[in-house]
Amino acid sequence: MTKYRSLATLQRDLVGCRLCVDAGFPLESGPVVEPATGHRAYLLGQAPGIVEGAEGRPWRGRAGATLRRWLRLDEDAFYVTFFCAAVTRCYPGRPASGRGDRTPTITERELCSRWIEHELRLLQPELIVTVGGLALRQLLGITTLTDAIGKSYTLGDAIVVPLPHPSGASSWPNEPQNQARLGKALTHIRRELVRLAEAEPSKNR
Ligand code: SF4
Repeated sequence: MTKYRSLATLQRDLVGCRLCVDAGFPLESGPVVEPATGHRAYLLGQAPGIVEGAEGRPWRGRAGATLRRWLRLDEDAFYVTFFCAAVTRCYPGRPASGRGDRTPTITERELCSRWIEHELRLLQPELIVTVGGLALRQLLGITTLTDAIGKSYTLGDAIVVPLPHPSGASSWPNEPQNQARLGKALTHIRRELVRLAEAEPSKNR
């Protein structure tokens, strides 16, 4: 596997990635990639939606607006704060039912996991936020949202704070018994962001 020495080189290759298409998967966009600009926080979502696939930028649809509201960040602050990654980077299209977006298969997730591994090695984020069950499972191997939301974990030198997915397809965030867990997770993330903002830049990236 290629050993990247810079995020710029990695992202140049990621933009041209066709691994899943070559493997026969019916993707409906190319990779959605937001340029790296010295981020210290890494956001791992599930996959781009139809809006993100069309615009070529992550978190542009309604779920992104909800996520920014949760985090109390406007658009500019959001993209400056978080390096936006995802379990898979291309819009997967609709499922056979026509409802929502197709969940990436295990094979697609495995094919795309190389980009996460390269990014984490090069970026060395101090905070990682997983968004949704698929990202939680991919990064930490935890299969139940309810077990993880409101807790934090470590991965190497990074603190990992899981969030549920803010898309309307998930009812988890709106269930009354989950409100305290979600609030705790968001408080933790905001506290970590303040800490990162106040700390001296620890690495020259
Ligand atoms: S989903 Fe990931 S591995 Fe598959 S083609 Fe897109 S960028 Fe490549």
